[in-house]
Amino acid sequence: MPDPIAQLSTLKRCTRCALPETHESITFDAEGVCNVCRQVEFKQEHIDWNARATELDELIEQYRGKYDYDCIVPFSGGKDSTFTLWYLVREKGLKPLVVSFDHGFYRPNHLANVERTITALGVDYHRFRPNWDVVRKLMLEALERKGDFCWHCHTGIFSYPMQIAVKFEVPLLFWGEPSAEYTSYYSYDHGIEEVDERRFNRFVNLGITAEDMEGMLDDSVTMRDLEPFAYPKMRDLRRVGVRSVCLGSYIPWDVKQQVQLIKDDLDWREDVVEGVPEGYGYEKIECAMQGVRDYIKYLKRGYGRTAHLASIDLRNDRMDRETAAKLIEGHDGKRPASLDVFLEYVGIDEERFMEIVARHVVSPWAQPELIQIESAAELWDHNMWARRPAGISAPREAVASGLQQVENALPMAAEHGTFSQATAEAMGAAVPNGDAHGNGTSVPPVAAPAPDEDS
Ligand SMILES: [Zn+2]
Repeated sequence: MPDPIAQLSTLKRCTRCALPETHESITFDAEGVCNVCRQVEFKQEHIDWNARATELDELIEQYRGKYDYDCIVPFSGGKDSTFTLWYLVREKGLKPLVVSFDHGFYRPNHLANVERTITALGVDYHRFRPNWDVVRKLMLEALERKGDFCWHCHTGIFSYPMQIAVKFEVPLLFWGEPSAEYTSYYSYDHGIEEVDERRFNRFVNLGITAEDMEGMLDDSVTMRDLEPFAYPKMRDLRRVGVRSVCLGSYIPWDVKQQVQLIKDDLDWREDVVEGVPEGYGYEKIECAMQGVRDYIKYLKRGYGRTAHLASIDLRNDRMDRETAAKLIEGHDGKRPASLDVFLEYVGIDEERFMEIVARHVVSPWAQPELIQIESAAELWDHNMWARRPAGISAPREAVASGLQQVENALPMAAEHGTFSQATAEAMGAAVPNGDAHGNGTSVPPVAAPAPDEDS
């Protein structure tokens, strides 16, 4: 009988899990088994977890009781960081500072989970959310350039807690699962994975630093706005002596068992996610835009979240290939209802969205036609999500009389070489027609927005 998973599409897939050749950093060996599957095999068979447990205790004792907090736990409130926090508090008796970088799309069930968790564990909780108007611009820019609108989230989640470590002078940070669990940028056989700047630049920030981003966005966004997304300076990290590690490097990571634990002890509750079958209600439930992210992945790479989840079960011998193939076929690649909200957020239409994503398709996959795509139903909380259409935020500088300021500013800017005479003239010519700026009243006082480099 032919392999039902190989029949799903023209893409070559792992003979053990369901990951296709378009998965980031994948390779296949002579038996057609992928490197992620081989990593997990290594984790199950070759790591001395008792020795690692001792290492963890030695690490903790170096820091316990010496600072305002014993450690920082970067915390999304999802299953992995909730378990990490639970483990460090309940099993190790640590006093952590819990730090959340709020990406802006937390869902109601998630917020209730966080509330119960931090209350039950009795911890100090620090939550930070960056300016929505900046986030909106970052989302569109990252989508255009990388086909991934989550740059603000990737960078903020990894940078912001490091900045807090420096500011509060708390050197030890515990993340959850190591990346070797799902990708092969790092591997279990190379010892303890440090969650550091090298790792950040290697696969977290999509190759775009906050400084790069400042140059790409219009002048209203400055480096001050982008600080939350910037990795702290090496000298500051050294001064505080920051050590940033994954709990999953020291204890074997078993998602299903850990989920059961936090449910029993913290009343942590599951939720539904777009494009995810029943039975996985613990996965990525903290972001309203998860469905859009998974949909983009499907359009770019020909597989979605269900292929990823089924792969974990296949690897752990919890599912047969026929069941996995059916699940993947039934769930991956549907158009999520959250896409409407996303398009409103970034201010583009669906045709434009498809055009942008088409530029980022990973060969040999080819993006399907819009017409072939089936739509999925709205989630229960869809209408409870904050709607923040483009233009809702107050302009940064209220300009009482745009025309007058521009008239004054132009010669001054030209004199100071802020922009060329030709640009000044072009702008001057456009000024009487205020509609060219979209709303006719808030003409930028000094310089026009920088043109996009390669949109
Ligand atoms: Zn595999």
